[in-house]
Amino acid sequence: MARVTRFAPSPTGPLHLGHAYAALVAAERGDQFLLRIEDIDTARAKPAFEAGIYEDLSWLGLRWQQPVLRQSERLALYADAVGRLSEMGLTYHCTCSRGDIRAALSAPQEGAPLIGPDGPVYPGTCRNAGHREGAIRLDMAKAMALSGPIRWTETGLNPGAHQRDAHQMVTEIGDVVLARRDIGTSYHVAVVVDDAAQGISEVTRGADLFEATAIHVLLIRLLGLAQPLWHHHRLIRDAAGKRLAKRDDAQALAKYRAEGATPADIRQMLQAGI
Ligand code: GLU
Ligand code: ZN
Repeated sequence: MARVTRFAPSPTGPLHLGHAYAALVAAERGDQFLLRIEDIDTARAKPAFEAGIYEDLSWLGLRWQQPVLRQSERLALYADAVGRLSEMGLTYHCTCSRGDIRAALSAPQEGAPLIGPDGPVYPGTCRNAGHREGAIRLDMAKAMALSGPIRWTETGLNPGAHQRDAHQMVTEIGDVVLARRDIGTSYHVAVVVDDAAQGISEVTRGADLFEATAIHVLLIRLLGLAQPLWHHHRLIRDAAGKRLAKRDDAQALAKYRAEGATPADIRQMLQAGI
């Protein structure tokens, strides 16, 4: 079966060496290589950065199948998915601010807040409050009771079968946000809806998203979507061993290009681990 992979950058800054590596890994592993623009965060996504993505990837010698999927055009589909989970009785509205959550977590009897793939594990303040507006959260205990233990196969770092049970999901991840108040969706919902819509057979991405995979498998099961394989790759770090962030323009591909580097130079740097 043809292997379908994708590169899914957010146009919130210039592409840097870490993005180049992610794109090259995806392109290399795919018989079909797709591109997806993850621009649901409309306050941070900029057309100029999207244009830069096409330019940088073309310069690197990559070619992708058309059409390019843009998440900002698919908000109704994400709302449908969240609506289905709500109809299943698995969600609730949350009106907490970040400050409220921090304050609730620092209550002495709560102990040290756990940090999951989405930040501190939500203490459940609004779970039974019956709010009718606000962010929409997944009730993790109910969701796991319906789904049963989740399993997936990793082909990259940490290869093999992985599993998470209800206890782990509730204590280590908790009631994640499915729809943010401001944008009406979340990365987790958009990514599973789109990976299924694009027929992705192997999700390649950075190791920083490994733990989020458990959330994605759960949503895939609840929504009845086809489950892909995952291939998490190492993160590219700078000379000081620090992970590259989009705000560090020092490693921007456009800057290397302006200084006369060739695509072959970039590939060589990435192979050498920089
Ligand atoms: N949009 C994410 C990023 O720019 C990648 C998400 C994914 O590959 O699942 O880091
Ligand atoms: Zn709340």
